[in-house]
Amino acid sequence: MYPESYHDAVAGLLDDEAVDLSYSVEKDGTLHILTCNEPEGLQVFWHSASHIMAHAVKTLHPDVKLGIGPSIDSGFYYDFEFTEFITESDLDEIETHMKKIIEADIGFERKVLSKKEAHRLFQEKGEHFKLELLQEIPDDQVTVYKNDHFVDLCRGPHVPSTGYIKHFKLLSLAGAYWKGDERNPVMQRIYGVAFPDQEALEAHIRSREEARKRDHRRLGKELDLFSFHPEGPGFAFWHPNGMVIYNEVNRYMHDVLTRHGYHEVKTPLILNEQLWHQSGHWDNYKENMYFTTIDEQSYAVKPMNCPGGLLVYKSQSHSYRDLPLKLSEMGLVHRHEKSGVLHGLFRVRQFTQDDAHVFCTPDQLEDEVIKLIDLVDEVYHAFGYEKFQVELSTRPKKSIGTPDMWEKAETALKHALDAKEKTYQVNPGEGAFYGPKIDYHIQDSLGRMWQCGTIQVDFSMPERFDLDYIGSDGAKHRPVMIHRAILGSVERFIGILIEHVGGAFPVWLAPVQCTIIPISEKFHDVSRQVHQQLFESGIRCHLDDRNEKVGYKIRDAETKKIPYMCVIGEREASKGTLSIRKRKEGDLGEKTISHFISETLDEIKRRVNH
Ligand SMILES: [Zn+2]
Ligand SMILES: [Zn+2]
Repeated sequence: MYPESYHDAVAGLLDDEAVDLSYSVEKDGTLHILTCNEPEGLQVFWHSASHIMAHAVKTLHPDVKLGIGPSIDSGFYYDFEFTEFITESDLDEIETHMKKIIEADIGFERKVLSKKEAHRLFQEKGEHFKLELLQEIPDDQVTVYKNDHFVDLCRGPHVPSTGYIKHFKLLSLAGAYWKGDERNPVMQRIYGVAFPDQEALEAHIRSREEARKRDHRRLGKELDLFSFHPEGPGFAFWHPNGMVIYNEVNRYMHDVLTRHGYHEVKTPLILNEQLWHQSGHWDNYKENMYFTTIDEQSYAVKPMNCPGGLLVYKSQSHSYRDLPLKLSEMGLVHRHEKSGVLHGLFRVRQFTQDDAHVFCTPDQLEDEVIKLIDLVDEVYHAFGYEKFQVELSTRPKKSIGTPDMWEKAETALKHALDAKEKTYQVNPGEGAFYGPKIDYHIQDSLGRMWQCGTIQVDFSMPERFDLDYIGSDGAKHRPVMIHRAILGSVERFIGILIEHVGGAFPVWLAPVQCTIIPISEKFHDVSRQVHQQLFESGIRCHLDDRNEKVGYKIRDAETKKIPYMCVIGEREASKGTLSIRKRKEGDLGEKTISHFISETLDEIKRRVNH
């Protein structure tokens, strides 16, 4: 019997290894019981639901071939190869059958098999994808999980029996390549989610619906911000409206970085292969890079901006008086992603990184990190993000640099975070092989977390590129190098922002800030003059002189999420005023033209965020 508080237990963590509740503990260790209130517990719950789904699908379609069925951030999926494609309408039948499996409360039975036995088992079942997965497992023994006749190759753990998964929903059906590679067979992926109680399930479905409405790919099309084309998979095409946002984000970054003492650089997109050997990217990152040939020599398209930044540093000699030196670059990088994982602006093959490299003396490190923490705070607040999580990742097993260097750098990062009174999670051993780092996750208006910013200390690059500065003792010293990005990918950051504000950008970012609405043709001339006046003052405005009713034009402006509407009729024309409506707020009353201009310009200048 478990104590009362463990009634909603789903699995255990034994010395950080997830195990079934039925696991017999045979050695000393720390045991933690997982429930659905913790992310790891919920993952076990969801993954168990994916088995039940596969069980139901296999029963209804005995010829289906099973792919993989993991839990993900927001539920679970399973990939299937059906003999004939199924449609969304088939999901009901699968759900009904899943309910039967759940009612029967069938146990999850774990079995350890030799690889040979497992091979025979999946060979007999004709599960060729499972055989492929089996080959990739280096161990001699593997585990399978059985529910009645249904058996799946799986590490586990699972909930004890199918009866645990009472409240679930199948959400959607999508195409997916086996292993995300377009050269592989096309499979069908069914997504679902499950919760221990009905309320949590309903809340999840509601927030999913809201997220669907805010999907940046959908809003990108509706608001005419950007597009993607088969001629350039993973490469965004920015339209005039999207370009306004893109440029405003860049302009803001330029302003804030200048104020924080950065100097902007721009380095080439294509650099000789030799440089990438020197930087270590060739050995560690080649699979994600694109190559080309110039004058019969091999060149690479940069996946990161660091080597270019290092050549800029090395182009001059530096004294300790020049440090800290902060070089920023809005750097366009290309990184190969499998076509199956490309996703709007979130996963692209070409993006601009708001990169910077800070070169400083070891003594300056802590202060520089404190300044970076302030800078990150300032930038996120400017875009309306109030909540974010901070993580500190320390020395991994495979790493370069002396223990003393790591100790100093980790202490500097910790001290800096403590000095700024940040609460943060420590991820032991999760740092980069070249140094410890701080990562930021921002929370959007739907409560979702997005990893964006990073501050990374690097011991490797200064060595590889033999960087130095002349110290106060007249001798050469090695500078410390910090890589940092705040937005991360500008493209992805804008994608997140579109969903965060639901397409309703604050005035400073809005592609069109104001629309002028004459109530009839009689006022077109005066409206044209007002339009000219606003435009010349620097407000992005649009004149809606279509022969439509005022109500229609207002609704249209609201659909386009334009912040201000200026209505002009008889009274306004004679008095030189505008009747102002603001998106979401409604009628703001009458204002003189010059008053409206000065207020709006002030709102833009201060980059007000609502
Ligand atoms: Zn499993
Ligand atoms: Zn870098």
